[in-house]
Amino acid sequence: AASVAFDSVTKVYGRDVLAVDRVNLNIAPGKLVTLLGPSGCGKTTTLRMIAGLEMATKGRILIGDKDVTKLPATDRDVSMVFQSYALFPHMTVIENVSYGLRFSGYSKSETLERANAGLSLVGLDRYGARLPSELSGGQQQRVAVARALVLEPQVLLFDEPLSNLDAKLRRQVREEIREIQQKLGLTVVYVTHDQEEALAVSDEIVVMKNATIAQIGTPRALYDAPADTFVADFIGEANLIGCEITATDGDMAEIAVGSARHSLPSRGLKPGKATLAIRPSRVRVVEGKGLPATVEKVTYVGARMEYTFAGDFGRVFAVSDNVDDPYRMGDAVNIGLAASGPVLVPDA
Ligand code: ADP
Ligand code: MG
Repeated sequence: AASVAFDSVTKVYGRDVLAVDRVNLNIAPGKLVTLLGPSGCGKTTTLRMIAGLEMATKGRILIGDKDVTKLPATDRDVSMVFQSYALFPHMTVIENVSYGLRFSGYSKSETLERANAGLSLVGLDRYGARLPSELSGGQQQRVAVARALVLEPQVLLFDEPLSNLDAKLRRQVREEIREIQQKLGLTVVYVTHDQEEALAVSDEIVVMKNATIAQIGTPRALYDAPADTFVADFIGEANLIGCEITATDGDMAEIAVGSARHSLPSRGLKPGKATLAIRPSRVRVVEGKGLPATVEKVTYVGARMEYTFAGDFGRVFAVSDNVDDPYRMGDAVNIGLAASGPVLVPDA
C-alpha cells in the first residue's frame, strides 16, 4: 500500500468551473481516509484525479514516491469501485472478477485462483458461476469490491459505493469494507456525503466545502473540535449559539452568551462575534453557573429523553440517557459550559 499526496492541486473544468481549489492532502499508507462533503463540493473530482481519470489543472499528485500528475490511469496502480458497480452484465461473477487480471501476466490457473481468493474475501466464494443479474445489490457491490481487490492496487478508491443499497445493507457492507481494508492494510480513499458512514469507517476524514478543504482530522477530533460552524453542522448534530468573545487571556476567552458570562478555551479566536457549538449528547444541566434556561419540550423516545431548552441565548436541543428522572416542561435549569462540552468555533 502506498501513500497519496496532493500538493496544491487545482482542477478547472472547461473555462471556469473550479471543482478543486489548491488542495493539499497527505494520506498515509494503510489508512482509510474519507472525503466527506455536500454534493458538488469536489469529492468525485478529487478521487478521479488520484485515479488518473481526470488530470489536474495545476499542482502535483504523488502516489508513494512517484509523481503521477501526468500519468494516465493505466500506469497508476490504483483501482476504483463505483456507486453503480459497473459489472459486465453478460459475464459471470468469476469472469467479472478475473477481467482486470487479463494483462497481469498470470497463468489461467493463477488468475482463477486469485479471483476465487478475492471472492472469498467478500464472502461470495459460492457465487462465481452466477450472472450479476442473479445477485442482490449488496452482492453485486461485493463483486465490484473483489474485482478491485484482486488487482492488489497501491491505492483503492471508492466513490459513494453504498448509495444504491438500503440502510441495513449499507451498514453491513461498510463494515465489510473496513474489515478488509484493515486486514490487508490497504490505502483506501473513500468518498461519501453521509457523515455517519464517514465517522464509522474512517481513520481520518477530509471535510470538503466549495472545492476546498474545511478540516482534516480523526472522526473524534472533527466531532469534538470542529474547525468552524460548517464542520460542526455537517458532522453530527450540533447546537450553534451565537456569542461574543469580549476578551482573551492566553488560551482562554471571556464570552457573553445572552445575559450570561463565561470563560472557555479560545481555540485561537480573537475578540468579536463567534459561535458556540454544543453536541446534543454533551449538554449538561448543572447547579450554579451556566446558561439560564427553561425546559420547553420533553420527548420520551424509549432509550433516551430529548429536550429543548430555551433561554435568552436561543434554543438548545439535548439528549439524555436518564429516562427515570426526567426534567419537566417549565423547569428552570442551568446549562453547563464546562470544558468537554461546548466549543467556540469561528463562523464559517
Ligand atoms: P461531488 O462528487 O462532491 O458531488 P464533483 O467533483 O462531482 O463533486 O463536482 C465538483 C464540481 O465540478 C461541481 O460543480 C460539478 O458540477 C463540476 N463538474 C464535475 N464534473 C464535471 C465535468 N465533467 N465537467 C464540468 N463540470 C464538472
Ligand atoms: Mg460525487
